[in-house]
Amino acid sequence: MELRFLGGTAEIGRSALLVNETVLVDFGMRPSTPPGWPIETPTPAAVVLSHGHLDHVGAVPSLCVGREMPPVYATPPTLACLRLLATDTLGLHGGTPRCPFTRHDLETALAASEAVGYEESVTVAGHEITLYNAGHIPGSAHVLVDDGETRLLYTGDLHTGEQRLVAPSTARPPADVVVIESTYADESHPRRAAVEAAFVSFVEETRWQGGTVLVPTFAVGRTQELLLVCAAHDIDAYVDGMGTRLFDDFDRHPTYLRDHDAYRRAISRARVVTGRTGQRRRIADEGAVVVSTSGMLAGGPALTYLECIRGDPTNAVALTGFQVPGTAGAELLARGACPINGTVRPVSARVEQFSFSAHADGDGLRSFLTAYPAAETFVVHGDDPVSAADTLSGCSRRTRVPELGESIIVGPS
Ligand SMILES: [Zn+2]
Repeated sequence: MELRFLGGTAEIGRSALLVNETVLVDFGMRPSTPPGWPIETPTPAAVVLSHGHLDHVGAVPSLCVGREMPPVYATPPTLACLRLLATDTLGLHGGTPRCPFTRHDLETALAASEAVGYEESVTVAGHEITLYNAGHIPGSAHVLVDDGETRLLYTGDLHTGEQRLVAPSTARPPADVVVIESTYADESHPRRAAVEAAFVSFVEETRWQGGTVLVPTFAVGRTQELLLVCAAHDIDAYVDGMGTRLFDDFDRHPTYLRDHDAYRRAISRARVVTGRTGQRRRIADEGAVVVSTSGMLAGGPALTYLECIRGDPTNAVALTGFQVPGTAGAELLARGACPINGTVRPVSARVEQFSFSAHADGDGLRSFLTAYPAAETFVVHGDDPVSAADTLSGCSRRTRVPELGESIIVGPS
């Protein structure tokens, strides 16, 4: 089996892996300015997507530019996310040289899509493809590709720990080669119950004092997860931004949720903000809890709320995940000030960070790999994969970091 790494090796963003020049696993973008794309646009017989985050699906519509679109296999929630995220990319960059596809290309790609459930197999040009729950977000999958000689397991983003929205990854299908993500290989997550308890007391303390709590979240997964956390602890919350547009898609596909009833209760309890800035200002003044995109304060309605609440130390910002260096969220944590619509503003509101991660930490990744002692393992999707490979070495037969653009022949030991 030949593997070609077209993106997402020593980086988080633009994940793309081409198998035997035939099956393309993920085709993502890096949501930077300007956006980053895979180093090549291949012509596979089929595309299979691990999950609906921009760094795994964002470049898919560009695959049909100037050629016939191959079938795109993914779970139903992943396909819903592809539509939402690619539409958003068109809104931000469409019609400029920054965007390699058009709305028509997106429609063509979606028309070529075929929904596949967990543990259902499809066969494409002699390759059997099977998806397994990866425990990251609704519809997230480990992708198994079997060409008859070699079984490749591409983990995609995975979580072995507890979340409220999705059940953890437990399937360990036999494989000869593993390509594993390493986002938090060098970290150890605090216990989930402790994170929730700290978040709840931060929110309640702020509200007793009459303040408003802004909870910036990513649209896909984290928005819905935080509403489940709020509902479980009897916290009334407003919800705003792109994450609300996935509520119905996730509701229609309950097999990808951990607890459909809890999901429905959380979504129907949340007050969805559909209004304009005036309504947001009123909410910001009322001592409310607001779950809103974007998670790193790069844009979205979260910035409107932040502008309203930033001057009063009674208010608070609860960051809900890692803040990539250079983002507004990272600046806010480090300096108590961050850019809001192009101008750096001081923030007097209290700021705390809570580790609601949807990725496995070092222990989680090692426990995953213990099922593959004889496999050859490639470590990707991390800022420091050399260190990550070091952390994960010893779990499987051989561990290495592929180069961007590298072509590697692999097979059973
Ligand atoms: Zn992801």
